[in-house]
Formats: sequence, C-alpha cells, structure tokens
Amino acid sequence: MSAPIYLDHNATTPIAPEALDAMLPFFREHYGNPNSEHAYGWAADEAVKLSRKRVANALGCDGRGLTFTSGASESISLALRGAASVYGGRKHRILTVATEHKAVLTTCQSLEHDGFEVTLLPVDADGLLDLEALRAAIDDKTLIVSVMWANNETGVVQPIRPIAEIAHEAGAFMMSDATQAVGKVPVHADAAGVDLLAVSAHKFYGPKGVGALFVRRRSPRVRLQPQIAGGEHQGGMRAGTLNVPGIVGMGVAAELAAKNLEADALRMEGLRDRFEAGLREAVPNVRVNAENAPRLPNTSSVIFDGIRSGKLLSTLREVAASTGAACQSRVQKPSHVLTAMGLTPEESFSTVRFSLGRYTTEEEVDRAVQHVADAVANTRQRRAA
Ligand code: PLP
Repeated sequence: MSAPIYLDHNATTPIAPEALDAMLPFFREHYGNPNSEHAYGWAADEAVKLSRKRVANALGCDGRGLTFTSGASESISLALRGAASVYGGRKHRILTVATEHKAVLTTCQSLEHDGFEVTLLPVDADGLLDLEALRAAIDDKTLIVSVMWANNETGVVQPIRPIAEIAHEAGAFMMSDATQAVGKVPVHADAAGVDLLAVSAHKFYGPKGVGALFVRRRSPRVRLQPQIAGGEHQGGMRAGTLNVPGIVGMGVAAELAAKNLEADALRMEGLRDRFEAGLREAVPNVRVNAENAPRLPNTSSVIFDGIRSGKLLSTLREVAASTGAACQSRVQKPSHVLTAMGLTPEESFSTVRFSLGRYTTEEEVDRAVQHVADAVANTRQRRAA
C-alpha cells in the first residue's frame, strides 16, 4: 500500500527542503555554541541573529523582543507564568477563551491554583469570541487577555486587533497563541497590537522542538520572570544553549511562510473548497463546522452524522486525518472546542479534522474524497446490518 494521503498539517507539517538544507551545516561544520568567543561560536551566533531577523520580519515585530524556545507550549508557559510572577501582586485576573489550546488552558488552571482568577470567555456557534462578553468581563485588575489567533481544530480566526484594543483600553496585556496562523493568514504582531505572541516552527514547515515568544519591549513594556534558570542566554529570558540548527531551520521556514503566504493561502483555500464540495457530493449527511466564520484556508472540520470519527479513521487507512487536536486524539472526551460552540457530544464524536498543506495536490484531494466516501458508506452499511 502507498503512503496515506497526509491531511493532518495542523498536527505538524513536513519540513520544507529549503529549511532542512539550511540546517544541515549547523550539525556538521558550524556546530559551535553561539555563546563561545571563537570562530565556531561567532558563526553560530551570526546564524541565530539572521534567524531572529527572519522570524521578526515574518511576524511583524521587533526581533529584540524574540526569545527562542522549544515550541509554542513553552512560549505560552513562559508568557503566562512569567507575567504572573512579575505582576501578580497588582493584577490577579486572566481572561482567555473556552476554545483555546490546552497549552493555554492548562497553564491558566495551574495559575488558578496559585491564586489567579481565570475567566473563560464564551464563543458563538461560529467559534468567534463574543466581544461584548470580553468588554463586560475586563477590569483594571486584568493582567492578560489571551486569545488564540486561529483555532487548531476548526480553523476559526479571531478578530485579534479589536480584542487587543479592548485589552489595552483596560490596561491589560494582549497575548495571542499564533501557532496555527503563521503561514496561513497574515500575522503582524505590531499592526495587531499583540504584546505577547507564541509560535512554533513545526506548524509552518520548520523543524519540531523549536519555537519563539515575542515580548513587547515598549508601549507597553512587558516584563517576564524567566522560567528556566541558568546561564545568561537570550538576555537572561531563557537559560540553555541555543538549538542552533533548529533556529536556523525556523528562520528559513518563517521567511518562506511570509514569502509564499498569499500564494499558499489561495491554493489551499481552493483545494479545501474542492475537498468540501467533493465530500458534500459524495457523502450524504455531512456538515462543516464554522463554515461561515473567518477560518484558516487549510482546515476542514467535518461532522459525519451518525458515525464515530475514531472508528471511521481507524478504517480509513489511506488518509491521515485527526479526530481533533493531535495531543487530544487518544482522549475519549468530546472536544472542548466543539462543545463550547454548542455542538452536542454526539456531534463532537462524529467530527473529523482534515488539514491541508503547502504540498497537498488536487489529485490527493480527489482521492481523499473518494476514500472518505467509501469508508463512510462501509461504516454506515455495517451499522445498518
Ligand atoms: N497552540 C496551538 C493552537 C497548537 O495547535 C499547538 C500544537 O498542537 C500548540 C499550541 C503547541 O505547540 P508545540 O507543539 O510547539 O508545543
């Protein structure tokens, strides 16, 4: 059997060949520690500086505010816990959204144990944050408003700039988990007024295990307590020898993501629409979640009425997709994202997330539709028998 068609790019992406090629010399020849004062160290340090510039350009922010991390989970933890440590004495409230990734929700839960008051704001049936609920909840004791740029399960894109304006009017910092947005929709931290921005390279064709946190340095200046103690790396923000090959790969991937953004988005949207139209034609009783909301061009969250998505995916060997978030896919609980949008547990258990990517072809999309249609028909037949 040939390799399954990969429609799970929100879980992770294959590395771009350009990023991998750029990384290899930093394993072989330029293996120096960027903190070392000799030619090996200087070469590594130069490469990190270049990556910082590339990532900052791609994210529309000041590179001096970037800290390289091991990925978005760490960036989120550093942002929330780091700010809580510095400002917790004065401000004890955090506002976030019911549909956030577990990286945010679990970190917030742990801060609740430390005495913070966390409010989970509701979303409407399209998965969009209710701005009135935000206005009603925010006050001068609110330290951070944390709203993801785009949702990993449904692809719903939040109105980040208006949210940041509401946060700033109340004197709160605006944070956004932009992990799923980079390379799919424009992400510009300065233009959107985001003070803390978390990203991860492996979601935009960079390597796994490397990410970044942008921290605004002025207007407003955000101060964070480092969460990993040790040497004075990265201005003291995060101790630990830098992952130079990973950072180099991230830089190239970020530059490519920015350069190809429009073309990639248009192509993916065309393929996604073709995929959804194909499914509607070939499969009875399918619905697309958040169909009318602003959503990522690559993501299709589809309900197959009356079918358990876990069962469907286990018979669908030819297509690699997901029942929800990759880190949640073994959990037998309805998706917190879909239930927050008002779906029943049954509907949530019948949902499959398909996420297309830069290298997905029209031919793959057409074959995937056929395989899904066959698998659904077989599953429904077996149920009826
Ligand atoms: N936030 C979102 C929206 C995600 O989709 C993910 C990954 O699934 C993360 C955070 C965590 O990213 P990482 O794997 O880099 O820790």
